[in-house]
Amino acid sequence: MELTEEQFQRYARHLILDEVGEEGQEKLLQSRVLVVGAGGLGSPMLLYLAAAGIGTIGVVDDDRVDITNLQRQIVHATRHIGELKVESARATLARVNDGIAIETHPVRLGPDNAEALIARYDVVADGSDNFATRYLLTDICFRLEKPLVAAALSPFEGQLSTFRPYLGAGHPCYRCLFRDPPPPNLVPRCEEAGILGAVAGVMGTLQAVEVLKEVLGLGDSLDGTLLIYDALHAGFHRIRIAKDPECPTCGGSTSC
Ligand SMILES: [Zn+2]
Repeated sequence: MELTEEQFQRYARHLILDEVGEEGQEKLLQSRVLVVGAGGLGSPMLLYLAAAGIGTIGVVDDDRVDITNLQRQIVHATRHIGELKVESARATLARVNDGIAIETHPVRLGPDNAEALIARYDVVADGSDNFATRYLLTDICFRLEKPLVAAALSPFEGQLSTFRPYLGAGHPCYRCLFRDPPPPNLVPRCEEAGILGAVAGVMGTLQAVEVLKEVLGLGDSLDGTLLIYDALHAGFHRIRIAKDPECPTCGGSTSC
């Protein structure tokens, strides 16, 4: 593909980077990224991925914009209250960058539709807020060999990692880290626990960076480590994640 004159200008600050350049920008424009959840994590992620020129962005969310979302879900605005989040996000992203395609999926991701949906994308970013979706994405991204960039939030803390367990030894999955989902309602969601809105912004933005690195093949992946952001102490730390040979998703003989 050849960049247009408009694209040369729009992406000028990418193009002057040796690490991105014209070739990298073309990769971004040809890539397909699926963002699961247009909420606190999905909002900044979608904005930056659209601005960066990810050529096709899929958004999955079956929810509608509520006034309580607006404290952190910055892809939505007051006038969007009551609209489907995927439609509200599409409208905002089109204003940021009208040269990319937004594919909206106003469905709840479940075992019946996840595989067909994920198969159509190159990279998956999990911005969901529930364990059922997190484990479903873990299993299906492993099976389809799609990189999964996943983040999670608590009121003043965020976690982020990239999972590529299909690459074999040294590449754990989310289930290697947390074998089983916690009992229902043990870990409260943002709605119940509250969250400092900008913490979601930090984590969703970091997630966008890792998605762009994954598409560009740039720098060190978080694959094999968990990045933890502690907002109250203004610190980041990383812990290593070991691959569990007994992991029900990616351990042992997994080719069956
Ligand atoms: Zn695993």
